[in-house]
Amino acid sequence: MRKASVPVEEAVNREITRRIRDFYPGGRKLKYQSPKPWEPNTSFVNCYDGPKENVGYHSDQLTYLGPRAVIGSLSLGVAREFRVRKILAEDDEHRKDDGSLADAQGQISIHLPHNSLLIMHAEMQEEWKHSIAPALAIDPHPLAGNRRLNITYRCYKANLHPNFTPKCECGVPTVLRCATRRKESRGRYMWMCHTNYVPGEKGCGYFQWAEFDDDGDPPWAAKAKAMVKTQQEAKPHNGKDAD
Ligand SMILES: [Zn+2]
Repeated sequence: MRKASVPVEEAVNREITRRIRDFYPGGRKLKYQSPKPWEPNTSFVNCYDGPKENVGYHSDQLTYLGPRAVIGSLSLGVAREFRVRKILAEDDEHRKDDGSLADAQGQISIHLPHNSLLIMHAEMQEEWKHSIAPALAIDPHPLAGNRRLNITYRCYKANLHPNFTPKCECGVPTVLRCATRRKESRGRYMWMCHTNYVPGEKGCGYFQWAEFDDDGDPPWAAKAKAMVKTQQEAKPHNGKDAD
């Protein structure tokens, strides 16, 4: 995972630069997107064992990543289908007779072969949902058999460590979500009780709008930076982190 993170980091930074230059308005990074190079410090591995294993439509947790997060997703083994669809606001334009939201843009399917890198760019988690569809048939991989291994590389922000983020009435750190449903609040971020999202558990209902500066840092960023620095200075020197 560490070894692969080097070429992944290079490829992701190259693509972020290209995307800003060629696709974003005015050739500038998005509001709340980090201006710093993308440096992954966390990765998750998921295994899809056989054609039936899948994950439904969702967007990834922003709690530790902050707004406009970029995620690098490396696929190994069996090729599977990644689907994305745009999140629609609850306006009447898209409302069908039965009250559900119509899939105006449809869904997009992306084939993920062995050893491919998919980049979820800065607008992805707020504006799109993604899934891995169950497969009818798969081509076994010589090494992985029926399995697809997915390594996702992420950049956790030190200033979004639960030491710094708001706590709810239950006393646990809150989760960061982006409002998507109502047109008026769409795109705003909020800190919410984590328990509100655990099925069957009743949370305290804690809610607070989340504020970020243009670079996606929270109001306590300076304080967090000073505290992280103090902690690092207090640690015995291991000789590896010399500047
Ligand atoms: Zn709570």
